[in-house]
Amino acid sequence: MTMSPIVFTDLDDTLFQTAGKMSVDPNPQLIASHATNGKHSYMNEAQSAMFNWLNVTTRLIPVTARSTDALERCVLPFSDYKIASNGAVILREDGTLDPEWFDRTRKISAAKSEFLESIQNVVTERAQASQLRHWIVYEQQLPIYYCVKSNGDEVWLDEQQSLLDEVVGDQLFCHRNGNNLAYMPHEISKRSAVEYLIQEIAESDRRPIWGMGDSLTDLPFMEACQMMVVPSGSQTHNALDTLPKRGADSAR
Ligand SMILES: [Mg+2]
Repeated sequence: MTMSPIVFTDLDDTLFQTAGKMSVDPNPQLIASHATNGKHSYMNEAQSAMFNWLNVTTRLIPVTARSTDALERCVLPFSDYKIASNGAVILREDGTLDPEWFDRTRKISAAKSEFLESIQNVVTERAQASQLRHWIVYEQQLPIYYCVKSNGDEVWLDEQQSLLDEVVGDQLFCHRNGNNLAYMPHEISKRSAVEYLIQEIAESDRRPIWGMGDSLTDLPFMEACQMMVVPSGSQTHNALDTLPKRGADSAR
């Protein structure tokens, strides 16, 4: 029996990116996601071909930091399960919440809600509002994680991170890639959601399972898969690039 491979994929900076990160003007027909601030995301031609290939030949499952609301602004026709809010939410094929998984999230949120609100207050008090955007990501009206982005220089986000790292201590896990800074409860992760879905839907050890992602914080969920796919030029590729490469000389 042939079984469709399962491909778990990150979205932003893996399947598509904002126009500002592209080397050529985006093709408006390849819009991938609308943004409330006007910074829409697009696929390049190769990403579009890759998406179409994976979408017809595999069970393609997005695994994203985006909340369910932000995921809805993505216009790509995902039709399988979806993992949102860094693993806090699993949506089933019909778009409804996996209730068993969300019961787990509900308990984690209850334990961390006061702390998430307190760190938001710290930033509100100390930061100049014009320099950053920061918010708590909610699912089903429950606080899940805390998110900060700089409106200008990423160096400014570095300063916020040192301040917040001290306040947060080991109570939350820090995600940082470029202009994205987030603090997550340890128990919420893309990996835990991917492992749960593999248990639910893989059915056989013979089914190919791939994980794709650009960020170092994607690696744990990718490691739960058999193959790990990393975009060239991504944060993870850049980290690998510091390793000595065998065979690089002979390629010249
Ligand atoms: Mg990404």
